[in-house]
Amino acid sequence: MRDIAAISAAVVRCRRCPELRAYTAQVAREKKRAHRDCSYWGKPVPGFGDSDARLVLVGLAPGAHGSNRTGRPFTGDASGDFLYPALFRAGFASAPVARDRFDGLELRDCFITAAARCAPPQNKPTPQELRNCFSFLVEEFEALERLRVAVGLGAIGFNAIVRALAQQGFAFVGKPVFAHGAAVDAVRDGRTVSLLATYHPSRQNTNTGKLTVAMFDAIFTRAKEILARAGGAGRRSADPAPGSAHPSSNPERLDSSGTQ
Ligand code: SF4
Repeated sequence: MRDIAAISAAVVRCRRCPELRAYTAQVAREKKRAHRDCSYWGKPVPGFGDSDARLVLVGLAPGAHGSNRTGRPFTGDASGDFLYPALFRAGFASAPVARDRFDGLELRDCFITAAARCAPPQNKPTPQELRNCFSFLVEEFEALERLRVAVGLGAIGFNAIVRALAQQGFAFVGKPVFAHGAAVDAVRDGRTVSLLATYHPSRQNTNTGKLTVAMFDAIFTRAKEILARAGGAGRRSADPAPGSAHPSSNPERLDSSGTQ
């Protein structure tokens, strides 16, 4: 079994989706006017956070000019500007602002990853691209041995969690169906992982009021309550300190409503 650092290194090297790798590199070359002085990451974006986390967040995919630019999930775009303050308020982040991968931000008992690690055109990975990337998520779930709560940020992240837990042999206590605030437990050999669902913190959802600060905070309050009941907040002594695990027009594309 690979650890989080080894998985992250493999993600960055991955070339299973040539079209996505070409697209992310093209975006990095062409840039957006507002970021023309930035050096874009332009590669697959690995997970970020505490390698001993009990809470994992699973999003959709990097944004072309957010994570694909900065190289860290939800960093440098509007979604991150909504997510990281919520994580800070809940005590899972050391600061409310995520500027770039060198900003010193640390996650505490929390790890952020995604269903797809390369920025897709129109924020819509194809089913095949999601399948290509799925093994990395399963590996991360296996490496996060103390995982207790998994939050799906949008339907695609939620469904990726369902599949990853099923792949690991977990059975669900009830049917996992995506809806904001939905919760279902998965059990295996006396171990429970609680799956929570939230609308994705996209600008589209937050600007329209579909996802409010109070709605989002309630999800992380719920996660904290589950973790408090579970206990075991202390880190394993042999593990490294929390922080970044960072190693240094298609008709098949899913409809964007799947991110909600
Ligand atoms: S989306 Fe995932 S599987 Fe496809 S190239 Fe990127 S990292 Fe590899």
